[in-house]
Amino acid sequence: MLDFVVVFTKGGVVLWNSKSNGNTTSPPESTFSSCINGLVRGVILEERNTEAKYYEEDHLAVQFKLDNELDLVYAAVFQKVIKLTYLDSFLAEMQVAFREKFGGIPAAGRLSESYDFDREFKRVLSAAEEASAKQVKAPKAMRSYNESQKSKKTVASMIQDDGKKPVTEKRVNIQETQPQQQAPLSPRSKEEIIAENRRKLREKLTPTKKTSPGDTKASKPSASEKAGKKPRVWDLGGNSKDAVLLDRSKDTPEDVQYQSINSDLVGTMQGVIPDLDVESEDDEANGTECSDEEETEELVQSKKNKRGGGLLSYFKGIVGAKTMTLAELQPALEKMRDHLISKNVAAEIAAKLCDSVASSLEGKQMGTFDSVAGQVKEALTQSLVRILSPKRRIDIIRDALESKRNGRPYTIIFCGVNGVGKSTNLAKICFWLIENDFNVLIAACDTFRAGAVEQLRTHTRHLNALHPATKHNGRTMVQLYEKGYGKDAAGIAMEAIKFAHDTKVDVVLVDTAGRMQDNEPLMRSLSKLIKVNNPDLVLFVGEALVGNEAVDQLVKFNQSLADYSSNENPHIIDGIVLTKFDTIDDKVGAAISMTYITGQPIVFVGTGQTYADLKAINVTAVVNSLMK
Ligand code: GDP
Repeated sequence: MLDFVVVFTKGGVVLWNSKSNGNTTSPPESTFSSCINGLVRGVILEERNTEAKYYEEDHLAVQFKLDNELDLVYAAVFQKVIKLTYLDSFLAEMQVAFREKFGGIPAAGRLSESYDFDREFKRVLSAAEEASAKQVKAPKAMRSYNESQKSKKTVASMIQDDGKKPVTEKRVNIQETQPQQQAPLSPRSKEEIIAENRRKLREKLTPTKKTSPGDTKASKPSASEKAGKKPRVWDLGGNSKDAVLLDRSKDTPEDVQYQSINSDLVGTMQGVIPDLDVESEDDEANGTECSDEEETEELVQSKKNKRGGGLLSYFKGIVGAKTMTLAELQPALEKMRDHLISKNVAAEIAAKLCDSVASSLEGKQMGTFDSVAGQVKEALTQSLVRILSPKRRIDIIRDALESKRNGRPYTIIFCGVNGVGKSTNLAKICFWLIENDFNVLIAACDTFRAGAVEQLRTHTRHLNALHPATKHNGRTMVQLYEKGYGKDAAGIAMEAIKFAHDTKVDVVLVDTAGRMQDNEPLMRSLSKLIKVNNPDLVLFVGEALVGNEAVDQLVKFNQSLADYSSNENPHIIDGIVLTKFDTIDDKVGAAISMTYITGQPIVFVGTGQTYADLKAINVTAVVNSLMK
């Protein structure tokens, strides 16, 4: 028996479900929301394994059908142990009936409609069940393997069977990744209907009971919680005192919020962005201590561990009066490559760095360990500095002043996947701009994730409390431009920029919805947002702690912006905000990889959870940290 049937957009907005009018007597729809959420996050949004048309979670299974033309998904949930032979034809009939009743309008244009599909659903279901019953009575020919459910499972779908969630699912949830663009809706009730749809979606997909421990990400905020996200706790993150400042969950009334500000916590940041402070190693100690040729691997390792290790120690055996050959260098270079990879440098880049060190050492006189170590260090430093030195200088203060002189606001758009720290670091950059006497308009263009606007509102209050108008000749230093949820982000950004222009605001910071780099519709809409608003700067926000994944994101964001823009010279990413640098210890490789692959400079580094935790990349410190 079918437990639950639902029609939803590929972005996760539920249009109709079989429970809304009590169509079946099985458990309430919340029982199935986790399974449907899992399907949306792990399969539909990731666009993987969709050919299997089958998904399992705990004791439930979902068979689904995609309507790519209309961007819709038809899904039927049932108990895994039950075999239902009619699902393929049933879902195909559902699709036909749905199209017949509501026309061939793509999903984006459907969000405003109300969907009375109960009668058709009952008709299609009983026809399918009847046909199946007849088949059962008739002598049945054995199904071939190709016709069976099993043949439709891929290895990946079978792996999900054991309860494991897809790796990337932590970044996505239904509300966070709904499509950005919506076709024009009926003027009377457009907003109400979108709001209603969103409310319904939340209700439908919010389990009333607590989900299982491993499934906390799937749960959606309840009505009382939806004003903001729960603060995330970072094991290595700033101290709890600091965290108070950027905790968006405490959206208390304004007067309370203002009084609770402790400006000592945030320090001051004027003029330049302070350099990133990475603990550097004592080079000399590294050189001399490793001169014992008899030293065992274990000893080297234990010394490395005690003192934070030393990349140069791998070259300790290469001493003498000869000239260095590639063959002699090879073992040390391999260890060096592994060392770099262990610091989160992408494998390909680690190999290239080793090649460049090899070519500068080959044919040189060996000499003492100190001299070899010195040469290695010099060669590696040169390569790293070359990588990390921006090919293009980004001077926001200078450019913002220039814009101001020209009577137009300086605009920065922030983009990236969910949860990387876009809003938080946007707020830090806002703080830095205010400290430099620019007033700022924050444009709330994440119109999808529940709580996104409230999060920015809280930051706006904090920032205004730290920099009240009274201290700035009556100028309000930061304002929020918001139009709530469900609207076209590109349009809101455009209105915000116009508002800033008309009211003489110096800088506009545009927050955008998080999106996965492979999600074509969302990448298209980001491209549109950038194209129509022509910002001064597009900043990609990426986490330092994910290493190679951040590189993949950055490359694909850039590629999408280039591919989906109809401009001859598309505006791609100008620079990187590397966040959560405080959580990576000495695994600083993401900085190298991201700049190497894209050639884009790291403009800011986020180093914690206070507004002052914003730094500039310090090339020497990063290089030293890599050598440890
Ligand atoms: P968004 O979804 O990309 O807008 O991400 P948020 O701005 O909501 O940030 C997600 C979480 O990362 C929040 O808990 C932030 O406090 C935290 N966060 C952001 N930047 C940093 C950082 O530089 N260091 C640490 N430790 N946490 C950060």
